Amino acid sequence: MKRKIKYIVVHCADTDPRKPYPFEACRKDHIEHNKWDDIGYHYYITTDGTLHLGRDLETPGAHVAGFNKCSIGVCYEGGKMGDTRTKAQKQTLVNVLRYLKSLCPEAEIVGHHDLNPNKSCPNFDARTEYKNL
Ligand SMILES: [Zn+2]
Repeated sequence: MKRKIKYIVVHCADTDPRKPYPFEACRKDHIEHNKWDDIGYHYYITTDGTLHLGRDLETPGAHVAGFNKCSIGVCYEGGKMGDTRTKAQKQTLVNVLRYLKSLCPEAEIVGHHDLNPNKSCPNFDARTEYKNL
């Protein structure tokens, strides 16, 4: 990694997990609605556990105000009103976070909420759950 990564930030899409919100829908919203160049995240994990590649890791994301330059963003589909991660999503999340820790051993895994207390995202305590990865 050329970028200096301080945080690996876990997000939820804040969508109803019963209503599919696939990678391309999220990407389209970020481009057309938010007017960004690309999806804001580096990884997106759909309810079936599939890992979708968003921005290149060397390109700063658009997912956490004030910390985009020094972070990587990983988002799971769903998350509205609570932790709606499926078993498959949890498995993929652990795998991708382990991989990112191997690339950036100094980085801390946190939830969006830990960097912006006004947000409840990702609706579970990522910092505690992944502190030993
Ligand atoms: Zn978030």
